[in-house]
Amino acid sequence: MSNLVDALRERRTLSDKGLRELLESDDEGLVEALHRNAREVAVEQFGKVIWLRALIEWSNVCRNDCLYCGIRRSNTNIVRYSLTKDEILQACDLAWQLGLRTFVLQGGENPPAAEKLTPVVAEMRASWPEAAITLSLGELPYDTYALLRRSGANRYLLRHETANPAHYGRLHPAGMKLENRLACLRSIRELGFKTGTGMMVGSPFQTTDDLIADIRFLESFRPDMIGLGPFLPHHDTPFRDYPAGSADLTLRIYSILRLMLPQAWIPATTALATLRPDGRTAGILAGANVVMPNFTPVERRDSYALYDGKSRPGAEAAETLQQLKSELDTIGYHV
Ligand code: SAH
Repeated sequence: MSNLVDALRERRTLSDKGLRELLESDDEGLVEALHRNAREVAVEQFGKVIWLRALIEWSNVCRNDCLYCGIRRSNTNIVRYSLTKDEILQACDLAWQLGLRTFVLQGGENPPAAEKLTPVVAEMRASWPEAAITLSLGELPYDTYALLRRSGANRYLLRHETANPAHYGRLHPAGMKLENRLACLRSIRELGFKTGTGMMVGSPFQTTDDLIADIRFLESFRPDMIGLGPFLPHHDTPFRDYPAGSADLTLRIYSILRLMLPQAWIPATTALATLRPDGRTAGILAGANVVMPNFTPVERRDSYALYDGKSRPGAEAAETLQQLKSELDTIGYHV
């Protein structure tokens, strides 16, 4: 059976039937072989080194109403905030001092506010010329992407969420279209951003066929980064009563993607770590090579709850980082 894994490792692709087997099989030996091979390929590419990105949750103001997301426009039970320029620069400064070299500004979709981030990005670029600046601000007009790119941002994360247009329609309000999101991804790439995309695993109505379509999309788009984690319900959304996605399935997909795209940057995501306390190390042992510690000011974190259980009270970035390093140490990895 593990010749399926060998084939995937060797050819970097697999038939739909083979993918289905890897996603659905209850053969533990097969799953173990999948993770072991993915881990070996990650170590060949990157060594036992994990790359850290400082996540700064810039704003929870959002014009969208994605049915899964806790900061959707219709959720009136949260306090809306946007970090000031000084708060953003302070978070970057702390991250830099602690040794991180990539800043990720993520937030709700708010095109006018995104445009106003341009001078902030320019100041980040001027203050830390060697840092990578990643943005994750949703679907924006081409000109806004271009402005942000010119002011010094060099990476952009925009998950496609699901590659099946009908499924996309069930996760989003009328008017939001997969087509538009994919057009944004093409613009982002054309502007010279390193591009990241990905999906939720176990979102409501998702089938194995949908996941195979997602994997095929990633295989052909060949993103530089792949963000994916389990769907987790949020109590103030229409999907409050749907079950969380599976950690096991998420880990299998990390491994499949590592074998298909050996050079991709794949974070062990916060959603996975929320679902499973050892999510980060499990993700790394399945082939992930990035972790994104949270550098959002502690007092804002509760307001950036995309799903329930996300915000762990109290811990400052420095403390979290120390804990993360010792976690990595237990599996023989380092930053
Ligand atoms: N507004 C930006 C950032 C969105 S938040 C954008 O549109 O890209 C980043 C990611 O969190 C989303 O792309 C989505 O995949 C994920 N996410 C949102 N709600 C979630 C939930 N309930 N469970 C798991 N992941 C979720």
